[in-house]
Amino acid sequence: MLERIRFQALIAALLVLTAVGCGEEKPAGGGSAQPTAPSACEVCNLIKGENHLCNRTHHCPVCKRDVGDDHFCGRTTFCKPCGKDVGKNHRCGVTHVCRSDYCTQRDILEVGENHVCRTSVFCKTCGVDAAFEGHVCNVTFLCPACLIEVSNEHVCGKSRYCPDCASERSREETEHKCSLTKFCKACGNEMPVDHQHPRGR
Ligand SMILES: [Zn+2]
Ligand SMILES: [Zn+2]
Ligand SMILES: [Zn+2]
Ligand SMILES: [Zn+2]
Ligand SMILES: [Zn+2]
Ligand SMILES: [Zn+2]
Ligand SMILES: [Zn+2]
Ligand SMILES: [Zn+2]
Repeated sequence: MLERIRFQALIAALLVLTAVGCGEEKPAGGGSAQPTAPSACEVCNLIKGENHLCNRTHHCPVCKRDVGDDHFCGRTTFCKPCGKDVGKNHRCGVTHVCRSDYCTQRDILEVGENHVCRTSVFCKTCGVDAAFEGHVCNVTFLCPACLIEVSNEHVCGKSRYCPDCASERSREETEHKCSLTKFCKACGNEMPVDHQHPRGR
């Protein structure tokens, strides 16, 4: 009787061992075919996935990877040098995710230091924030006072950039006629295109 109980116990123990053995080997052995099951980090004891950085990332079960503070499921990617989640037009050390509802309702496009919500987004070519509309790379920039794209000839409150004739124009709709008139910074007015200021006087 006693021997029979021992025998049963032995069988049970063996079964448990086999089960544990199988369970442990699957993730390790299954390697490339299946993504490895999330395991705990030896240092911070948190569940870690791809991109894990202690104290800087946390595991997203939906994306099945470690993510940074600015994570938006399926819409941000992880930047290793920065150690955080970033948007589509990310530039290391220059741009950041604007967390306002307006800026996060569509694609996650990053913004620069001169960002104005509802108005600007980072232009990779120019390296600064530019308005959604009317931006011409290396020609126009966002005027922080008027919040529109303007050129070097801009006078605040008075002019804006006309992409059609590639010159600064008066903000008065009636005054500007493309290729006939343009805004003169010195006069502060819309003037004929051939209007000039004689030099040295
Ligand atoms: Zn860790
Ligand atoms: Zn996610
Ligand atoms: Zn980066
Ligand atoms: Zn914003
Ligand atoms: Zn640009
Ligand atoms: Zn201005
Ligand atoms: Zn024009
Ligand atoms: Zn003039």
